[in-house]
Amino acid sequence: MYDYLIVGAGLYGAVFAHEAKKAGKSVLVIDKRPNIAGNVYTEKVEGINVHKYGAHIFHTNNKKVWNYITQFAEFNRFTNSPVANYHGELYSLPFNMYTFNKMWGVVTPEEAAAKIEEQRKTAGITEPKNLEEQAISLVGTDIYEKLIKGYTEKQWGRPCTELPSFIIKRLPVRLTFDNNYFNALYQGIPVGGYTKMVANLLDGIEVRLNEDYLAKKAEYDAMADKVIYTGAIDAYFGYKLGTLEYRSVRFENETLDKPNFQGNAAVNYTDVETPWTRIIEHKWFEFGKDEEGNDLPKTVISREYSSEWKPGDEPYYPVNDEKNGQLYAQYKELAEKELKVIFGGRLGEYKYYDMDAVIASALDMCEKELA
Ligand code: UDP
Repeated sequence: MYDYLIVGAGLYGAVFAHEAKKAGKSVLVIDKRPNIAGNVYTEKVEGINVHKYGAHIFHTNNKKVWNYITQFAEFNRFTNSPVANYHGELYSLPFNMYTFNKMWGVVTPEEAAAKIEEQRKTAGITEPKNLEEQAISLVGTDIYEKLIKGYTEKQWGRPCTELPSFIIKRLPVRLTFDNNYFNALYQGIPVGGYTKMVANLLDGIEVRLNEDYLAKKAEYDAMADKVIYTGAIDAYFGYKLGTLEYRSVRFENETLDKPNFQGNAAVNYTDVETPWTRIIEHKWFEFGKDEEGNDLPKTVISREYSSEWKPGDEPYYPVNDEKNGQLYAQYKELAEKELKVIFGGRLGEYKYYDMDAVIASALDMCEKELA
């Protein structure tokens, strides 16, 4: 008998497990995958830590979270600055003076602001109601057409007019020459990879891999007083109210016999014709742009293809629109009646969480639960 059975060895589960053990509780962690670390899992290929379930760049403004996570990993000084490729034209991201200069030839922040204002006026948007209107009102129609529309429709498989505006508000818009993608005080990639960081969180904790909780639920439930469930909430209830929508991602990984493929960790293909959304070149997360890393003769790249999730696929992004929000609210009502079970994390709470927010949410839960 354990105090806690933790379903899922991703960030939420690993933080909870660590804190529960520290509080003197007995803990068992299970995961249906053959590895720990959920979607932040990294695997060494050709000496490079490959982000197997999609690129993750840690960034936060939350000092408590930063102080917490840096106990388990040292972070390098990686700063995310993706490049957008629109039919071979390259633009800086996030949207900043370099982007505006390349797009319009404007030189000063005032000229850039005037250009955006002019395009917003022409489009006649006062109160943005969806992602398209939000994007145009933030950066104007040219940037929307070349750098947002195609990418967003490929990533989400839905027209921008049917997507919630909060998605685009994740990206900063700046009238300065600053290519740092995140407005975050702390940013970096764990030295040695995320898997090592999660392994450090799980140090001394019993972990069983290749264990499918939902396939043997009653058996597992009998093993613990309480369950922390970080899988998909609709799957927990056998999809009985219907399936929540997710986007899934397929990665095509390639090892190339060259030291440098694209000169940057992330290049976004923002046109609608290119079938992938972005290409990640993993070595640049670790070695920065300094000369030290350039002598690795090979490089590993991943092309990302986005698709609608169907049962059996890996769920990645919850589609947090109104329709799914309503269905999630119904599942949440059911979840509240499961007195023995706590639902947490991106899948358990059906929320487009960043890593720092997941850690914050797990720590909040620990405070309530383990007090
Ligand atoms: N986005 C875009 N063009 C880009 C990059 C991002 O239009 O080149 C939009 C798109 O709608 C995307 C959202 O910004 O869904 C959030 O992007 P982010 O990079 O934060 O997504 P993640 O890294 O979580 O996949």
